Amino acid sequence: MSTEFARNIVVFAAHPDDTEIFVAGTLKLLADRGWNITVCTMTAGGMGGIGSSEEKTIRLRKREAQKAAALLGADYRCLDGRDGYLFDTEALRIKTIDLIREKKAGVVITHLPMDYHSDHRTTASIVDAAAMLATLPNVPSRFEPLDVTPLFYHSATLGLTDPLGNAIAAPHFYVDITSVEDTKMEMLACHQSQIELMRIMHKMDDFFGEMKKQDIAWGRKAGVQYAEAYWQHLGGGYQKQPLLQTELAQYLITK
Ligand SMILES: [Zn+2]
Repeated sequence: MSTEFARNIVVFAAHPDDTEIFVAGTLKLLADRGWNITVCTMTAGGMGGIGSSEEKTIRLRKREAQKAAALLGADYRCLDGRDGYLFDTEALRIKTIDLIREKKAGVVITHLPMDYHSDHRTTASIVDAAAMLATLPNVPSRFEPLDVTPLFYHSATLGLTDPLGNAIAAPHFYVDITSVEDTKMEMLACHQSQIELMRIMHKMDDFFGEMKKQDIAWGRKAGVQYAEAYWQHLGGGYQKQPLLQTELAQYLITK
């Protein structure tokens, strides 16, 4: 059986801006190496509007996410779940499988199953179930099954804690994103609608600055200026080749 993994990566995040906060630096490094990148959000973040209706916010945030993805030359997709009310449904699993197959994903990244945000945890659950079904012919998908289950990775949570505030297990590896931090910040800056939201929801006066501090905090743990943190899903049923680690060897830090 083939265990060649296509250099196609699909990131599944719950909301527009999650990709930019957690994985954009690594995506930029992969884009520069010729990887084909798809950024998918389960919702369009319709609750993230202040003084703007859900519908209007959805339209605006899709445009913001598209603009950010374009900076990588990435395709942006939204699976149109409802922000704040994301459930692990059969319909969303099938849409997720469809996208994994359409893009012939060799690698899939999503949130950690013990993330702080309920929508992030639900996204992790949907993507785990969907990735596992990517090769199976009986799945009611519009697309051909893949030859091999994609490699599965998780991105960090804010603060590297679980919902109770406990430190989570150390990342399997960090990626040194110092050389691409500027691009990451440029991508994050596409999400202008979130500045006011963050001020009200998280009492965060400087959203972009606070996110940069997060990269610095991960960087400090890794011993570089800016970093992102990852875990590879090594549970039963998944292939375990360290493809991202090999591809990004010159930026890789393991502790
Ligand atoms: Zn989110």
